Amino acid sequence: MRILMLGGIGEAAKLARVLAPVHAVTYSVAGKGRSPNLLCPVRSGGFGGSGGLAVFLRDNGIELLIDATHPYAAQISRNAVEASRSTGIPLWAYRRPPWWPEADDDWRLVADWAEMRTVLREFNRPFFTIGLEPLRHVADIPLGQHWLVRCLAAEPPILSRLTLLCATGPFSLKQELMLLRDYRIDVLVAKNSGGGAVEAKLAAARQLNIPVVMLDRPVLPVADRIFTDVECLAADLSESGWM
Ligand code: NAP
Repeated sequence: MRILMLGGIGEAAKLARVLAPVHAVTYSVAGKGRSPNLLCPVRSGGFGGSGGLAVFLRDNGIELLIDATHPYAAQISRNAVEASRSTGIPLWAYRRPPWWPEADDDWRLVADWAEMRTVLREFNRPFFTIGLEPLRHVADIPLGQHWLVRCLAAEPPILSRLTLLCATGPFSLKQELMLLRDYRIDVLVAKNSGGGAVEAKLAAARQLNIPVVMLDRPVLPVADRIFTDVECLAADLSESGWM
């Protein structure tokens, strides 16, 4: 069957590798990070909203849409639901399970940037691992605070109270411990992305008793089928007679 998979995370690429030998899979990425090496066609860049996605689905005779995107990539998940509804093409979604704090972890949950700023007031050296958002607020860096910002790629702003690290994970526990110590970090700011690729920073914060300010996940829309395991998704596709 013809499948369009909206990807961008490791599990999506893994699922594409399982499905591609049996189905005509097209794998789609936003185009901001690395594209995976797959045997199926990989397209890069947006469709032009839910309308553009619906046109792509129809023009390419897609029979199943799979949303296996990052838990914070809420816009493309909303577009997928709208395009599925307008075309009648079924939508299956993989939703990656979140991380949970361990017994002695000090996690402060925040809903948005405004709440985060308030919580960060008591700290001096936050380490931001939430993408580009902090770079839009450099004018807000309080006197006496130094920000360490790690993201995939960005132009470094010239500011003595900010250090920008452009790097792509995964990062080892050893690397994360060294970074937290070298920059004298007193709070880690993270998204609850789940998965294993960037989890070491939480383990490092735990070892050094550093609190974590965790930005809540966006609420994602419902799909026809929702899975928290890509192997279950592949097995159900096979049992449905489609594989
Ligand atoms: P988003 O806000 O959901 O999407 C923004 C636009 O990017 C979409 O409307 C769509 O453009 C395009 N897009 C996103 N994913 C796509 C895909 N798989 N195939 C084709 N087009 C896609 O997502 P985002 O701006 O990429 O990221 C939002 C947050 O999620 C960020 O904090 C980011 O760090 C995190 N994140 C995202 C990804 C990812 O692969 N998207 C991976 C890791 C982390 P059109 O409307 O033009 O179709």
